[in-house]
Amino acid sequence: MNLILLGPPNAGKGTQAKKLYADFQIPQISTGDILRKAVKDGTPLGKVAGPLMAAGQYVPDDVVIGIVEERLKESDVAQGFVLDGFPRTPGQADALDRMLERLGKQLNAVVSLEVPHSTLVERGSGRRVCPNDGSVFHVTQSPPKRAGLCDKCSTELVQRPDDTPEVIEKRLQKYDAETSPLKNFYAKKGLLKSVDGVGSPEGIYEEIKKAAGRPA
Ligand code: AMP
Repeated sequence: MNLILLGPPNAGKGTQAKKLYADFQIPQISTGDILRKAVKDGTPLGKVAGPLMAAGQYVPDDVVIGIVEERLKESDVAQGFVLDGFPRTPGQADALDRMLERLGKQLNAVVSLEVPHSTLVERGSGRRVCPNDGSVFHVTQSPPKRAGLCDKCSTELVQRPDDTPEVIEKRLQKYDAETSPLKNFYAKKGLLKSVDGVGSPEGIYEEIKKAAGRPA
C-alpha cells in the first residue's frame, strides 16, 4: 500500500502514520522528521534547513525531492510507504509522479485529513516533545505523568521552535497557499479521500484504513 497523508501542520499525520506502521509495517517517510534529524546532527542539510524550518518556511523543492527519492529506493519500502509531509508543492507532486514511474510504483490513495484552523493552532502550541527519544505530549490533551518530563526517559520536554503560535500561523498560511491546491491535483487523478481529522486518534485511524481500502 503506497499512501500519501496530506494535511496541515498538526492535523495528526505523524500519529496516524505510526499506527499504519505498527499494523502493516509500512514505513513512514516524514520529510519533517528527516530534516529535524539533520538539524540535530548539524549536517550540511541541517544547516540549510534549520533556519527555514524555524521561520515556518519551506525547504527548497530540489532538496526535499532528493531526500524522498533516495528514501524510496531503500528495500524496506518494497511493500509500501506512507508519505507524511511530502509533497507540499505542485513541483514536489510532479517530481513524485515522475520518480514513482521510474521506480515502478503507484499510489493507492491520497488521504487528506481535514481539521479546522483553530484546532490546529491549539494542538500545535500545546505540543511538547522529548529531544531524546522523540515522544510527543500535549500540555492538556496528553500530558506527561510528571509535568515537563518525558514518561519514558525523564528528559526535560521542549517545544519545537516552529510550534510557537506565530510560526504555526505562518505554517498554516503556507499550507493554504501552496499545499492545499494539491488536493485538486490528486482529486483529478481519482486518488483523493478526505477524512475528518477531529476526534479520537483511533476513530480517525479506522476512517483512514477505510479510505485507503484496508479492512478495519
Ligand atoms: P513537518 O514536521 O512535516 O510539519 O515539517 C516541519 C518543517 O520542515 C516544515 O515547516 C518545513 O520547514 C520543512 N519541511 C518538511 N517537509 C517539507 C517539504 N516536503 N517541503 C518543504 N519543506 C518541508
